[in-house]
Amino acid sequence: MVTQTTVSSPKAATAASAATALPDHFEAFADARKLSFIKAKEFKESGGRLAGYLCSFAPLEALDAGGLAAVGLCGTSNETVPDAETVLPKNLCPLIKSTYGFALTQKCPFTYFSDIIIGETTCDGKKKMYELLADLKPVYVLQLPQGQQRPYAAEIWKKELELFIAEIEQRFAVQIDDAALRQAATRRNRLRQALVELYALQQATPPMMSGVEIMTTILQGAFSFDIEEYTEKLQALVAEKRAAYAAGQRPVAASARRILLTGCPSGGLVQKVGMAIEENGGVIVCLDDCMGERTNRLMVDDQAEDICQAISDRYLEIHCAVMSPNATRQDNLLELIKRYQVDGVIELVLQACHPFNIESAHISTLLEQHDIPYMKLETDYSPSDSGQLQTRIAAFIETLAQ
Ligand code: SF4
Ligand code: SF4
Repeated sequence: MVTQTTVSSPKAATAASAATALPDHFEAFADARKLSFIKAKEFKESGGRLAGYLCSFAPLEALDAGGLAAVGLCGTSNETVPDAETVLPKNLCPLIKSTYGFALTQKCPFTYFSDIIIGETTCDGKKKMYELLADLKPVYVLQLPQGQQRPYAAEIWKKELELFIAEIEQRFAVQIDDAALRQAATRRNRLRQALVELYALQQATPPMMSGVEIMTTILQGAFSFDIEEYTEKLQALVAEKRAAYAAGQRPVAASARRILLTGCPSGGLVQKVGMAIEENGGVIVCLDDCMGERTNRLMVDDQAEDICQAISDRYLEIHCAVMSPNATRQDNLLELIKRYQVDGVIELVLQACHPFNIESAHISTLLEQHDIPYMKLETDYSPSDSGQLQTRIAAFIETLAQ
């Protein structure tokens, strides 16, 4: 069944069926990028199917159950932003521009080889970008409710999941039954649990890892085609770090001030902000964003009688600023601050992200009421403000010194 929420164009469908040819400018790529292209090409040639997704609201269990490998496509680099700006407005979130730019320039192997890209109606910029992306790639957009509180929100989102499952079945000629969804939920829960255990390393004083190392590990995992393998790698890493710590290794200075990052997805700011924090006497102990605890601590009830409802309920619970109201984010934030013994909170707002930018007023007031130091940084992926950010971050951490 092809639903009215499918926005893929005939041009994109033809491009998708071109399948495994490398882009014309492949030879111009650096070696690491070439290797990723070859890896994705070989995966496709061996019968694998790739589904790209951008957002934590994408119900990955449906893709897993349909036999597709899900890869995160959130643009985290400034590299393709100038190309994207030939089509999209300059005054738009860098994550949206970067993602679209990678599709336009065919520079991301996972975008290039995706058989389908999954979107969702979150913020205005992203949902309108998907309409343009559909000229380049097959795109399917789920219609996300605007809030969680209406009694029918859970019903609508479950219906969206069912339509999405029907689309995957029809488009890829597969059957997705409850047993496959349940199995996928169990596997995804194991991965989420492994991530939660990775985050928990930072509860130690001093923490067991650098926050930048955690962020880099998670970003690399977004391109893993095999969930089980990725889960095992994370579990091994956690065991290794715990053993080293027990043996007396202390990779982070005891004096490092403990920082929680909240706000927009931080994947594109690892160097510019993450490194600046950790080079100036801080350590990132908690990620309250899409790559961190905000979403990954939420599990699917894989024993529930109605597995579709259990999956859709889990995703609807995500407290992202695109939801209105979004009060549960505040309760969650206070709980994380306590659990990770946070000294200060830095909120990252990507330029032109209205949901997080406006919501930051609530976060700032909340933290002021609880006497917790807070700083908001509004930035993009370009290096132009790196020096200024370094200075502000260093000054903020200085104020946290005992
Ligand atoms: S911040 Fe919200 S809209 Fe953006 S990727 Fe995360 S869940 Fe999706
Ligand atoms: S960071 Fe903000 S503007 Fe950018 S995609 Fe996410 S919600 Fe939209």
